[in-house]
Amino acid sequence: MNRQNDILVIGSVAFDAIETPFGKTDKIIGGAATYISLSASYLNNEGRTHLVAVVGDDFPQEGLDMFDQKGIDTRGLEIKAGGKTFFWSGKYHNDMNTRDTLVTELNVLGEFDPVLPEEYRSIPFVMLGNLDPSVQRSVIEQMETRPELIVMDTMDFWIENTRDELMKTLKLVDVLSINDEEARQLSGEYSLVKASRKILSMGPKVLVIKKGEHGALLFNERQVYFAPALPLEDVFDPTGAGDTFAGGFIGHIASTGQTSFEEMKRGILFGSALASFCVERFGIERLEDLTKSEITGRLREFIDLVQIDMEFV
Ligand code: AMP
Repeated sequence: MNRQNDILVIGSVAFDAIETPFGKTDKIIGGAATYISLSASYLNNEGRTHLVAVVGDDFPQEGLDMFDQKGIDTRGLEIKAGGKTFFWSGKYHNDMNTRDTLVTELNVLGEFDPVLPEEYRSIPFVMLGNLDPSVQRSVIEQMETRPELIVMDTMDFWIENTRDELMKTLKLVDVLSINDEEARQLSGEYSLVKASRKILSMGPKVLVIKKGEHGALLFNERQVYFAPALPLEDVFDPTGAGDTFAGGFIGHIASTGQTSFEEMKRGILFGSALASFCVERFGIERLEDLTKSEITGRLREFIDLVQIDMEFV
């Protein structure tokens, strides 16, 4: 194990109750940081994934064991005595692309004020899952050495309610990973090309725009790259797909230690591959027991999907 490839993940660890046209679940384990760290753990064999989050003492031991089994370090996962774990419930529409949030109970996440353990303050790769932007910023400020790469996610709720805080945090990150609607909301531009230009002027050097079943775009100041999503026969539950994508992205970048635009192109292919597994079952079910050969098989499918032999004059 080499600390040069380690990843720090911060975000929600949650109970989710999900309803899709295919069925519904009672409270199951979810949360942005759960999806991110599970996904990253498959790719970053050279380093370790360290989780910083908070749960209540209602969080089951089997959840903690699952992180252990994947080699994820949970020393930064605070268990609040007498507290209740963050709870989110959502219902998908028939198109599976849109959903309504039915319940958000912040519980222990409401007072989340993470203090990074000393040994986490020099981790080179940082993934800030969707959270209050001032909490995300406090994590950056606690780092003793500037990380090699800081990737950040956010959502409509923070863009709408905490724009000033969000703008301050955006100035400090390298990569912002959001979906197309969030990019439009943040920039006030409908065209994603114009949106990317505006967002890149807010601080991040690279922008990833996820477009669900229509793939993902990667922008820097001068270049743009597109990776499709794998056409899947069945999408069972899209919850966590964006987080799984982000985990795959940073997992790949951390495993190579390279932060070039070229490596980020591969990163979004890895992210898309991991996300394509996530949507096949409810919650984290499909991410719990993936094999290396399943992941490489799917990457091969992605490469085949975009490859073409063509001559032109
Ligand atoms: P995604 O489908 O990628 O948007 O992520 C879904 C996950 O985000 C679920 O597992 C939820 O527990 C978590 N989540 C939903 N709302 C919030 C929120 N306001 N803050 C943090 N995490 C959230």
